[in-house]
Amino acid sequence: MLQQKTLRELADALHNREFSSIELTRHYLERIARHNPQLNAYITLTEEQALTQAAAADRRIAAGEAQPLTGIPLAQKDIFCTAGVRTSCGSKMLDRFIAPYDASVIERCNQAGAVMLGKTNMDEFAMGSSNETSFYGPVRNPWDPQRVPGGSSGGSAAAVAAQLCAAATGTDTGGSIRQPAALCGLTGLKPSYGLVSRWGMIAFASSLDQAGPMARSAEDCALLLQAIAGFDPRDSTSVERAVPDYSSDLEGDIAGLRIGLPKEYFETGLDPAVARSIEEALAQYRRLGAEVVEITLPSTALAVPAYYVVAPAECSSNLARYDGVRFGHRCSDPLNLEDLYKRSRAEGFGAEVKRRVLIGTYALSAGYYDAYYLKAQQLRQLISEEFRQAFRQVDVIMGPTSPTTAFAIGEKSSDPVAMYLSDIYTIAVNLAGLPAMSLPVAPVAGLPVGLQLIGRYFDEARLLNIAHRLQQATDWHRQLPEEYR
Ligand code: GLN
Repeated sequence: MLQQKTLRELADALHNREFSSIELTRHYLERIARHNPQLNAYITLTEEQALTQAAAADRRIAAGEAQPLTGIPLAQKDIFCTAGVRTSCGSKMLDRFIAPYDASVIERCNQAGAVMLGKTNMDEFAMGSSNETSFYGPVRNPWDPQRVPGGSSGGSAAAVAAQLCAAATGTDTGGSIRQPAALCGLTGLKPSYGLVSRWGMIAFASSLDQAGPMARSAEDCALLLQAIAGFDPRDSTSVERAVPDYSSDLEGDIAGLRIGLPKEYFETGLDPAVARSIEEALAQYRRLGAEVVEITLPSTALAVPAYYVVAPAECSSNLARYDGVRFGHRCSDPLNLEDLYKRSRAEGFGAEVKRRVLIGTYALSAGYYDAYYLKAQQLRQLISEEFRQAFRQVDVIMGPTSPTTAFAIGEKSSDPVAMYLSDIYTIAVNLAGLPAMSLPVAPVAGLPVGLQLIGRYFDEARLLNIAHRLQQATDWHRQLPEEYR
């Protein structure tokens, strides 16, 4: 089964001419044609471009100039600008927007010789935890089509889980790589803020947004991260530092590793069955020689309220550009300029985006700035400081990625606060700018569970190593949803 191979195995097979990139690309395109109508994971397919890229990759492989991703079919979240291809960000606002250039992430994948199969569905402007806010309709979880895949990178998660691509990109502002990875049984990595360029990635909350890999193993995440990480002068928050070789550190011994378990992550709200799966994974780490200690992150409960001021504030400013004048949806027959602005935005944005713009505008207004925005920024400092303290005691922090397994479509969509609380374990990491991963552990009632690993700044290589060691000792990450094997 071609689609069950890992990135590494595919790269080796392409290199050894077991099959060509054209054959591999056709194989995925056939699977997409068969399964995507049910899952709704892709919202734009780029078949023709994919086959052209595959042909170029085959020539490159024949010339002995291949890199690990050369000829590998990937899916790209529709938040990345792709030259000549619709870039909708899951919104009616950009339904007819054809990007005039490639985002850095796309450019780097192209340079590595990867093949783009298409663009994946997502919550509108990446706002959501279930992929139900997309203009293009919800994505279904390949493990159970009545359930959500998580969000906002739900299309990428479903595409990887159903093996409709070899790996995919996602973005994570408050958990959108890790939470869907957890709910779909994948390995996903949110890099340190500044490691991956945000140039050409449609902005939601600029001080929190980061792009990263979603794949079936830590080894595969290392390969994809390698291709997209690194300094980019076009992103002023991109950090100028050497990118390590993420694959070379995977095998390192983890005996003596100090794992911190924040006691706040195991209190109210955590499904006891999820807690048991996390315990089982921790027992495995103990067998690998790690030491587990309890730590405290006292401000954990404040992360969600702080985030839901900071993220909407930044979103209200970032989304002000969609005014119906320069690009994006424009209403028909406006009466005057004000009517044009108002109706274009009223028609182009969905309910969740409007809620965020309203909250953000309110929190930033002169009378409330100190009470909300400034307070939230102070909490952000406090949360970062607590992580700093914790990392004096331990090398890595672990806990659940999500308090529950995948919930039913429609279960939380009418209760925004219940939805916001599904990110309770992931959000603090973005406020602090730290790297973190989610990896699959023992499923509960046939549904995937994610273990979260949080690391020190720019400690991605270490996180990948810690994750890989677990994946060498267990096979949770190899489990695939029955219908898509
Ligand atoms: N679920 C969170 C939100 O709706 C995080 C989304 C994200 O990481 N893009 O804001």
